[in-house]
Formats: sequence, C-alpha cells, structure tokens
Amino acid sequence: MTQGARVTTRPGVPPREAATHCPYCALQCGMVLRENGRRVEVLPRQFPTNRGGLCQKGWTAAELLDHPDRLTTPLVRDRRGGELRPASWDEALDRVATGIRAVQDRYGRDAVAVFGGGGLTNEKAYALGKFARVALRTRHIDYNGRWCMSSAAAAGLRAFGVDRGLPFPLADLGRAETLLLVGANPAETMPPLLRHLADQRARGGRLIVVDPRLTATARQADLHLQPLPGTDLAVANALLHVALSEGWVDRAYVAERTSGFDEVRRTVAGYWPAEVERLSGVPVADLEATARALATVDRAIILTARGAEQHAKGVDTVTAFVNLALALGLPGRPGSGYGCLTGQGNGQGGREHGQKADQLPGYRRIDDPAAREHVARVWGVPAEDLPGPGVPAYALLDSLGTATGPRALLVFGSNPVVSAPRAARVESRLRDLDLLVVADFLRSETAELADVVLPVAQWAEEDGTMTNLEGRVLRRRALREPPPGVRTDLAVLAALAARLEEGAAGGSAGGGGFPADPRTVFEELRRASAGGPADYAGVTWERVERDEGVFWPCPDPDGPDTPRLFAGSFPTPDGRARFHAVTHRPAAEEVSAEYPLHFTTGRVLAQYQSGAQTRRVDALRRAAPNGFVELHPDLAGRLGVAEGDEVRVVSRRGELRAPARVSPAIRPDTVFAPFHWPGAARANSVTNDAVDPVSGMPEFKICAVRVERA
Ligand code: SF4
Repeated sequence: MTQGARVTTRPGVPPREAATHCPYCALQCGMVLRENGRRVEVLPRQFPTNRGGLCQKGWTAAELLDHPDRLTTPLVRDRRGGELRPASWDEALDRVATGIRAVQDRYGRDAVAVFGGGGLTNEKAYALGKFARVALRTRHIDYNGRWCMSSAAAAGLRAFGVDRGLPFPLADLGRAETLLLVGANPAETMPPLLRHLADQRARGGRLIVVDPRLTATARQADLHLQPLPGTDLAVANALLHVALSEGWVDRAYVAERTSGFDEVRRTVAGYWPAEVERLSGVPVADLEATARALATVDRAIILTARGAEQHAKGVDTVTAFVNLALALGLPGRPGSGYGCLTGQGNGQGGREHGQKADQLPGYRRIDDPAAREHVARVWGVPAEDLPGPGVPAYALLDSLGTATGPRALLVFGSNPVVSAPRAARVESRLRDLDLLVVADFLRSETAELADVVLPVAQWAEEDGTMTNLEGRVLRRRALREPPPGVRTDLAVLAALAARLEEGAAGGSAGGGGFPADPRTVFEELRRASAGGPADYAGVTWERVERDEGVFWPCPDPDGPDTPRLFAGSFPTPDGRARFHAVTHRPAAEEVSAEYPLHFTTGRVLAQYQSGAQTRRVDALRRAAPNGFVELHPDLAGRLGVAEGDEVRVVSRRGELRAPARVSPAIRPDTVFAPFHWPGAARANSVTNDAVDPVSGMPEFKICAVRVERA
C-alpha cells in the first residue's frame, strides 16, 4: 500500500487520503488529496513553504485526474500527415524501439535525443539521464529547465561553487529587514509565498521590487524600480557603485570570505547613478534609496527570478546582484543572503541528477573523469562507454532533423511547441524528425506532432521525491493507481530499455538496469549522488517524511542536513566566494524604426507554463481564458487601439494576435504578453532565440517588435 495514504473502498468508512504536494510550481505547497468515490478533493496542508495556503492552480489540480482529455491508450501515426490512432502498448513500444534502432544504425548513437522537464520527480530525472547515457548511449539530453533557472544556476556555481536556488529556508524571508525582488512576481506565480512577505512587513521590513511592470507584487512594495527591460545589470552595478561611494561595503567580509573584488570595484566605478538613470529610467534617488535600504540594516536578502535571468546576458545580470550581496556581506548570515526563486515544481532536483547535457547525478560534471568513474561504477558500465556532454536545450531543438542534428527525439514532461523561444522554428524542426515520441498524460501541442504518444501517470498516481526551491527534498505520495492503460514514466523507460537490450548486439544496451519502482531508483540515486555537490546519500524516504523534508547536501543518514549554506565557508577550492566583474551590454535585438517597441513575456496567476494542463481546468480557463497583449494607454492612444481590440505583435521571427489590455502598469515603450497559449496567441512565436553564452538560457524577456491593430 502507498505510504502516507489510507485506502478503503467500503461505504461508511473514511475516504482514501494522501498527504502530498502540489504538482505545479517550485513552492511545492503541502496538500492532502482525499478521494470520495471517483472524486478527488484537494485540501491545503500546513507545510513550512505554504503554511496552509494554496493558489487557485493547486486547489484545482485534481480536476485533471479524470479529465475527458486524459490519454489512456498509446497512440501511433502510421504515416506523415496521417492521424494518430490508438495502439497497444506492445505495438507502441516496439515502434519506438525499432525506430530508435533504425535511426542509430543509420546515423549513429547521437542521432537519438532525449528532452526532459523540470516537473519530473528526482527519480524520473535520474532515470532519464541514465537511460540516455546507458540505454541509448547518446550525448544528447537536455530539458526545459534551461528556459527557467539555468542562468541563476551558472551564476551561483561560479560565485559560490554550488547551485541551490535558496541557500536558506524560505522562512528567512520573514526575518529580512530589507528584501529586494528582481524580476520576480510571486503574487501571481506562487501566491502562498506572500505569507512570508507578510511576516516581513509585520516586523517592519521593507520590500523593494525591480520589474518593468507594476505587477501584483510590485503594488505591495515600498519602492518599485521600473527599469527598461534588459538594464537590470546596470541597475545592480549602480547599486554597488552607491554602496562603495557611501562606504557601505562590508570590507571585513570581502577581505576574509571572498576573492576578486578589486576588479569589480574598478568596473562599477563607471556606473554613475545619473548615467544608469539615463539608460534604465530608474531615478537616481531610487537607486540611492535601494542601496541604503540594503546596506544599512543587519539583515537583507536579494532574490532574482526569470526577469533577471531570461536574457542573453542573464548569467552576468544575476552575477551583478550576487556581487552586490557579497559586497554587503549578506550570504551566510541568517535572514540575509542571495537566492534565486526557482520556477518549475522540480526545477531544483531536475537540474541535479543528470537531465542536463553536461551533468551526471549529484550535480557532477560529465567531463570530470572522477565523476564519470563514480557514476559508471554505480551504473555497472565502463566509464569510457559514457558519452560526453551534449548541447543546451535550444541548440538541441534547433538542430533536430538537420544534416548534423538528431533524427529522433523522446520527450518526457515538456511541451516545447509552446514553451520554446522562436517556437514556429522549433515546431518545424520537430516535424523534420524521423521519429518523435512524446510521453504525456494529455495531448499537448507537442504530442499532436508525435509519431508515438505514450500515456503516462499523473502526480497523484505515483510515489517519488521532489526538491523544492529551498533545496528541500520532499515526498510525493500516490493517492491511487494510474487508470487502466496508463503506465508511469519509470515503467516506460524500463520497458524501452528492455526492448533495446534485446535488440542490441551483445545485449549491452540495458546497462545497469531500469527499475520501474521509484523507491529502488531513489536508493540508486543516493549512491550515484554520494560525494557530489548535491549529495543525497543521507536522504531516505523515511527521513523526508519524518522531518518535513531534508535539505541537501546530506551525505550521512545519521548526520545533519543543510538548511543553510555558506555559514563558515563556500564550497570553492579556497573556501571563498568569487566576485566576477560584469558589464552592461545591449539586448541581442535592439529596437529600430521598423520594430520600435520592446516585447517581454511572463505568466498570469491562473495558468502554468505552457498551459497544457491548466488550460484544461474549468475554473482556471474561466479566470484566464485567452492570451492578451498589455500596453500602456499612451501607446494604445498612439496606435488607435482600445481595450479588447485585437492587435498583432510582430517581430522578425513571427507574430502573435490577441486582444489588447490597456494598462498604465507597463512602461509606454514596452508591451507584454503571457506565454501560456498556443496558436495565434503564442507569445513564443515572437520571442528571440538568442541565448546566454554560458547558460544557454534564451532571451525570452526582451526583443524588438511593432504592434498594429489586427
Ligand atoms: S503556489 Fe505553486 S505549489 Fe503552491 S498551489 Fe500554487 S502552483 Fe501549487
């Protein structure tokens, strides 16, 4: 029987329940699922992150369990242009295995690629990475977490030597006297987090928000800085410039705990507030007030999110805020520090266990010989058989079906037709493949293009673990079995590996085994991660349940976990955090006479990511039925556009059409659209596919467009 669930089907006795977490974002709110007959209720559950709160998405999450659109049988397409038709599991899996073998025989092992997701459990992310490297022996695996957190991850790694979104528990936010949120809108993306902000306010704390839009979060701030999109880096350097001029830098901390400050000091010397005001539009007085608010209190926290990250200079932008935090001596003190608000449900764990092109489990590098030896031993294969690093997500998607790119793709837990930048091009690349396989529980826009669709279980139908935005490992508990005809992702990987093993010369394709049982997979993950930066060796399911989660690193089952990092030193070779001097530069695409406006994208409260799930939930669809284009009244007046008029947003890559939403909340030189919708309202038809050179993260947050009445 599933742990954490009481099971009965007899009338008159308590209904079946499971204490679990929300399937959506990285806050991973605690919830109880209760089954009455076939109906599943969601009840909020006290947990340190949500403290009894849920947002509308969490409340309605169970509606998809028995949704009429639910896939319960595999689908195959007999010929290009034909329709998907129901098939047996044997037929579908044979088709996949045969297709993989045919492509690899003809084009080589790297001709098959895997694309994962930041919503997959730790066990699935781990198994998917192993499947790619051991069963397929391809170097091509990456995932949609590249869209979400990779720039903060890269910045954290190079500064602190480790990437854990929040290096402290979320409750620390309530203790900060000043909290600076950069490009984060938790009032819409993770509303229960505002309970911690309310704590902070109740203790007299100040909230400062940096965002080109007056968002629901910015409305609650004591101070809102509204920079031109793409100028956050300059704003951060100006804040450090002010801190240096005023003598607010923590010189003892810089001397004892960091390296590389001199070059940063020389660099920010040129970021005069008046110059940065001209560049960003943020008044000098606001820059000075922000620097003072951060520097003249005992406890301050700086948090960045997608607004700072999703740029072709996202790593450097985050680095500029990390530099500021280090110069003020914030990291490593309770109630102080720098952190990144991770987005997807398992955005943190999903980037730790081998789904990334350059990684092995435990956040090990795939090009590190010692890491390869360790993981290969756990997997029971020779280290030299493990492929090398692949390429980041967009480069991978953009190469599909080309002369040098993969010819087959397996997609798990992702919908790139809606979520990838320059989506029309990605869609075209997917159509060029010899074989596209999608494992999903709904017919997403990507599944609609597939040759084979494999129906898989939902969150309430499987056990496993997730790692939330704090680096806290949590238990996901199944309420019930998947419906007949549906398998878990782990079972799919196990079945495919077995078929590939049967067909492999010498029987070597299956490698170290692919158990379908998540607990068995987690035990292997513990061994594979042991000794790595994200060390889960001491994390057990029992301990996770007993202690309201376990913070990594946790190397010893009998030793402590690590709620707070950096108290005594940083996990770098010399124990010091590293400054990196970074400079502002323009966006990859600047405005011009033909495309005179900045375009930026983001989310709304009632929808989640590509919307494949939330667009099917009645209450969420009613709350947010369509895409829209937000534009300032001055701009709307110039264009002759009124509220509700259909407008076209046109970039060099494509266009979107949606009703205008006229609002003074946005700058007059910028338009905004949420990215949850496909078809004509697809925001990613417009976005730029320029990527950060370090992280590979695309520049979703700024490109040049023109707007016209449709
Ligand atoms: S805030 Fe995130 S985790 Fe919490 S209920 Fe909403 S979507 Fe789910």
